[in-house]
Amino acid sequence: AKRDGRGVARLFDEGMDENIRLRRAIEGGLSLAIEKGELSLVYQPIIAREGLEVVGFEALLRWNTEDHGPISPAVFIPIAEESNLIHELGDWVLDQSLAVLQGWPGQYISVNFSPRQFRRHNFVGRIMESVQRAGIEPNRVQIEITETAIFDDADRAADTLYKLRQMGFRIALDDFGTGYSSLYNIRKFALDCLKIDRSFIDGMGRERESAAIVQSIVHLGRSLGLGVIAEGVETEAQVQALRVAGCSHLQGYYFSRPVALEIANEIAERRYLI
Ligand code: C2E
Ligand code: CA
Ligand code: CA
Ligand code: CA
Repeated sequence: AKRDGRGVARLFDEGMDENIRLRRAIEGGLSLAIEKGELSLVYQPIIAREGLEVVGFEALLRWNTEDHGPISPAVFIPIAEESNLIHELGDWVLDQSLAVLQGWPGQYISVNFSPRQFRRHNFVGRIMESVQRAGIEPNRVQIEITETAIFDDADRAADTLYKLRQMGFRIALDDFGTGYSSLYNIRKFALDCLKIDRSFIDGMGRERESAAIVQSIVHLGRSLGLGVIAEGVETEAQVQALRVAGCSHLQGYYFSRPVALEIANEIAERRYLI
């Protein structure tokens, strides 16, 4: 194979699964995305049930490629997550997120961390160093992690979360209800809130099961003294149902899509009226 390496490589290439080729292209493109200035963040407001003011924003990553236009984070984050690329992206996201806080009256920024980032060596030290460098109070930073990040190595994760919370960071458990965490076990973790996965909010008006799951997550959160954020809220009917259910925070297109910084700055001053 080495002797006629090129021919073999070409054959291999042609026979290669389209998926693998795409994956390689994305990896290659991502590794240059930061220096090419192709990445940006958009911000989606998180609204308090009481008073309906904007208490924070979730930062969401966007990649607009020179050659192929925008690529969804649902596509490129899992690919980045398979290598150390996720750390480079994650560090960029965190630094950008911290920088925008200076311009907001009091809101927090909610930042997504993938399981690999969360398990990175010295995660706590690194994140602390970033906030100190930026001169930000840790309580203005919410760390969003998923169940997968914490249940695989629960003891270590519990320890990490405990340290982060001691330092003042807020911790949100994202996509809650989609993993296989035992509800009982979440007591082990130092959390501030649960984010109910969009799929349950979406199903609320149609299926009794979804409404029941939403209601039980809200009960669970309350009984553990946690906030509960509903994500993917799109309709007035959902807003009303979630407020009645006692959900403490709402987020979704009904209030605002994720928006560019200039618009987020305006929204930061706004109070929603329903
Ligand atoms: P996620 O953390 O669960 O984020 C919520 C997703 O739902 C976002 O998609 C958001 O734009 C979308 N969304 C918000 N409100 C609504 C709504 O009312 N209706 C509908 N249909 N969708 C809504 P997005 O921005 O495409 O992000 C997809 C996923 O990519 C995120 O899911 C998160 O897992 C990941 N991601 C995005 N940015 C980052 C990042 O900076 N770091 C990491 N590690 N992951 C990220
Ligand atoms: Ca999230
Ligand atoms: Ca989510
Ligand atoms: Ca999600």
